[in-house]
Amino acid sequence: MASSILSMLRRKAVTSKLLRAKSLWGKQKPVRCFSSQISEDGSVSKRPEVGQAETLLDIGTRSIFSEEHDLFRENVRRFFREEVTPHQERWEKQRYVDREIWEKIGAAGFLGVAIPEEHGGVGGDFKTSVIVGEEQAYANGSGTAWGLHSDIVMPYIVEYGTKEQIEKFIPAMAAGTNIGAIAMTEPDAGSDLQGIKTYAKRDGDDWILNGSKVFITNGYLANTVIVVAVTQLSAKSKAHGISLFLVEDHMPGFNKGRILEKIGQKSTDAAELFFEDVRLPSSALLGGEAALDKGFYLLMEQLPRERLLLGAGCQAHAEYMFEITREYVRKRKAFGKSLSKLQTIQHRLAAMKTEICVGRAFVDNCIELQDEGRLDSSTGSMCKYWMSDMNNRVASECVQLHGGWGYMWEFPIAKAFADSRVFPIYAGSNEIMRELIARDIVSDKK
Ligand SMILES: Cc1cc2nc3c(=O)[nH]c(=O)nc-3n(C[C@H](O)[C@H](O)[C@H](O)COP(=O)(O)OP(=O)(O)OC[C@H]3O[C@@H](n4cnc5c(N)ncnc54)[C@H](O)[C@@H]3O)c2cc1C
Repeated sequence: MASSILSMLRRKAVTSKLLRAKSLWGKQKPVRCFSSQISEDGSVSKRPEVGQAETLLDIGTRSIFSEEHDLFRENVRRFFREEVTPHQERWEKQRYVDREIWEKIGAAGFLGVAIPEEHGGVGGDFKTSVIVGEEQAYANGSGTAWGLHSDIVMPYIVEYGTKEQIEKFIPAMAAGTNIGAIAMTEPDAGSDLQGIKTYAKRDGDDWILNGSKVFITNGYLANTVIVVAVTQLSAKSKAHGISLFLVEDHMPGFNKGRILEKIGQKSTDAAELFFEDVRLPSSALLGGEAALDKGFYLLMEQLPRERLLLGAGCQAHAEYMFEITREYVRKRKAFGKSLSKLQTIQHRLAAMKTEICVGRAFVDNCIELQDEGRLDSSTGSMCKYWMSDMNNRVASECVQLHGGWGYMWEFPIAKAFADSRVFPIYAGSNEIMRELIARDIVSDKK
């Protein structure tokens, strides 16, 4: 009975390519596994939620996941532990990760995990994407912007690209040999996307691109950048005259500026990009002529999922910070006993754990909604806004509980604290999130 349920779960949850990806890493017993317990009478007991597990990072918890997801998670966790963590410090110093790590993770089958197999992706469900992002947060490994590549750049190409564009870019992106970025923000236009000035002008069948972008994640390493540009100067509003272009790093006139020096996420390269009379063939227009001037709407369509993924990452990162802090206060002695024996410390941990578990319930609900194609823009914004603020509250509290060591870079909580500061700023600032949520609340259509 047990094995038939397991094989049913297996058949349901993953495709053969995903299984192949896993077999590359072999089977490993989970650190702790609470997956469905099957008793002799065949009844299946439910998986515990994170707050009920021994630690918030345990594998086999959360009713939204299956045992297949657990197996996948174990392999991703091992990948981060063996291939990412040992290089993190060096990557922080050089301000970008080695290109080889992209090819390694591609070979392991963890890039584009939710992209359908027929398009060259791995063919997992949305939850497999969530797992990769969560494991990155649990590894405190902000350096590799695989989420942006796999869950933002690749879906744009798959959803809106022409057959030729999908065939050209997706298999190489899944292999990690072609690194993707998306460039919206400009020195004078961030929150207000309609204020962008980068302009693509038609020239026969081609386009001539001029302008600049800033803060572009993966900008330095990227082979392909989705560039947001104005294509219709006379449109009644900019929203009606913006298009997306696939710009490749070998194109003359496309220059990369310096890698920006950030206060956190130090090993993720964020760069300035410059476009000076870059000649783009008509095939560089994402989605071809049918998508001309519709770029703003394409961006809006993808935002709820992107914001959910960021919120899910913030949630997992808060869980990670909580666990390293719990460990620290257990070991750290003051006034003759562990800090964890002091009631005031215990109450702070209790308050933090409660807030994190409240967040977990909402995030998992949003993940289910997305999986069922029911996540709306307002809920996606709530997820990004609340999770990133909660994450920052937890980060600050955890540093405090580490005392002076929490302020030292050699302690993982210091890095986690610095990394977390950008969450309320990027992917749409939290002020803009509140604006979007409010707009929906007071809408006359309701
Ligand atoms: C590390 C990092 C990585 C990034 N990666 C990328 C990337 O890969 N691609 C990309 O295109 N961009 C990227 N960005 C840019 C990011 O999305 C923008 O920084 C963000 O959207 C905010 O825009 P801004 O910096 O221009 O701030 P501004 O828009 O100038 O805002 C400044 C402040 O004013 C507030 N504000 C603005 N408008 C309003 C309003 N209407 N009501 C209330 N308050 C408002 C903002 O919330 C913010 O607090 C990245 C940024 C960082 C820091």
